[in-house]
Amino acid sequence: MKINNQNDKMYLIVDTTAIIHFSSIEENLAINEFLLLPEGLKEEIKSHKAQTIFQLIEGSEKTIFDTPSNDALSEIRIKASESGDLDSLSITDIQVIALALDYPNSVILSDDNAIQNLCAFLQIPVKSQFFKIKSKRQYFWKCNVCNTKFEAKRTNCTECGSPLKRYYVKFR
Ligand SMILES: [Zn+2]
Repeated sequence: MKINNQNDKMYLIVDTTAIIHFSSIEENLAINEFLLLPEGLKEEIKSHKAQTIFQLIEGSEKTIFDTPSNDALSEIRIKASESGDLDSLSITDIQVIALALDYPNSVILSDDNAIQNLCAFLQIPVKSQFFKIKSKRQYFWKCNVCNTKFEAKRTNCTECGSPLKRYYVKFR
């Protein structure tokens, strides 16, 4: 056993849905597993129930708080814009995925649709509890009046001004 070897450490990156959906994660960690949370996560915890769970996780000696690097954050924003997930991700969600780039030996715990979708494109491992996406989706926006398509999110069509709707193409 080489449990003191840094390389053997495994980081479970926790998002807001995982705080509520995964029960007692801080109690069920293997000896080399650590919980990794972005600094900003605390502000997203709203309900009393979630706050109670968060305090248990926060108090665990196996919990690490970190801020992702600017390089990782900008890469995630670019990729999220490409997949069409950017507007569905909170600042904390982006931090969660960016941490996975900074900590290669990690897995994200999340039941969030947009996080899972973007991670599927980036080949970042995700463990889910109650919700798992069935396929990758590349989102786009389309005008139903003049049929113009837009890769990035817009509210109104640049050609005719009509409101746009979001669609997607499925990937395996
Ligand atoms: Zn139009």
